[in-house]
Amino acid sequence: MSDCLFCRIGAGEIPAEVVLETETTLAFRDITPHARVHVLVIPREHHDSLAGLAEVDAQGAADLAVVAGQVAQQEGIAESGYRVISNVGPDSGQEVPHVHLHVLGGERLGPLVQPAQR
Ligand code: AMP
Repeated sequence: MSDCLFCRIGAGEIPAEVVLETETTLAFRDITPHARVHVLVIPREHHDSLAGLAEVDAQGAADLAVVAGQVAQQEGIAESGYRVISNVGPDSGQEVPHVHLHVLGGERLGPLVQPAQR
C-alpha cells in the first residue's frame, strides 16, 4: 500500500530510527515515545492487524514476537520488564492501520489502560 506510512518506513522511503531489522520485519523508535524505551515492530508486508497477519502468515506473526523479544534484549529491558501492545481499531486508538507491536519499558510503566472516559 503506497500511501501507508509504515509500508513506506518498511521500504526505507521515509526515515526512521531503526534499531533492528530482519528480512521480514523492521523495529524503529516511536516518534512520540510513551516510555524511556518505545520501539515499534512492524512486518514489512502490509497487514491491518495482528490477527489478520496470523491468519495468512503464522510465521510472520511469530517473527514479530521474536523481534519484540530481541529488541527488549538489545535495549537492556528484558530483565527489568517491558510491555508489548498492539492496538486494533477505533476503540484502541489505533492511528496507523498497519500491524505493529509497541515495545515499552525502561521505567516502571503505569496501569495497563487509563480509566475509560464515559
Ligand atoms: P497506534 O496508535 O497503535 O497506531 O500507534 C502508532 C504509533 O506510531 C504512535 O505511537 C505514533 O507516535 C507512531 N508514529 C507515527 N508516525 C511515526 C513515524 N514517522 N515514525 C515513528 N513512529 C511514528
